[in-house]
Amino acid sequence: MRPGRVVCGATWISIGWLVNALTPLAYLWASPNTLVGLSLAALARLTGGGLSVHTGVVEAHGGWVRTLLERAPFVRGGASAITFGHVVLARDAALLDRTRTHERVHVAQYARWGPAFLPAYVLAGLWQGLRGRDPYRDNPFEVEAYAVG
Ligand SMILES: [Zn+2]
Repeated sequence: MRPGRVVCGATWISIGWLVNALTPLAYLWASPNTLVGLSLAALARLTGGGLSVHTGVVEAHGGWVRTLLERAPFVRGGASAITFGHVVLARDAALLDRTRTHERVHVAQYARWGPAFLPAYVLAGLWQGLRGRDPYRDNPFEVEAYAVG
């Protein structure tokens, strides 16, 4: 069976149209977080970093965003990259490439959870910490992302 197709009676119906129809809603649903990301992407660009669009996601690196990620308090040694909605920020272009698969899982998570993503992510991490587990590595959102990249 070809991926993206389902059987409805004896007729093959492509669900690609449905995915395409829902894509603008996913962008809208994640847009509050995307606005945060776009602000940081602008900061990266205005302070000497790079900015591009890759497969429907804004990617930015360098500039002051690099410093912010290096000093991220929630991950030992700082963060290589971070996602806000449909925006991915990384320390440099090489890390954008290396983390793309992982960060795309977070983009999909934002598309599913919308404005609830960040509170859910933080609460999931706190819950893991309260259970004596690693708030970052054992966070179910990270577990899902690390499973693929
Ligand atoms: Zn992650």
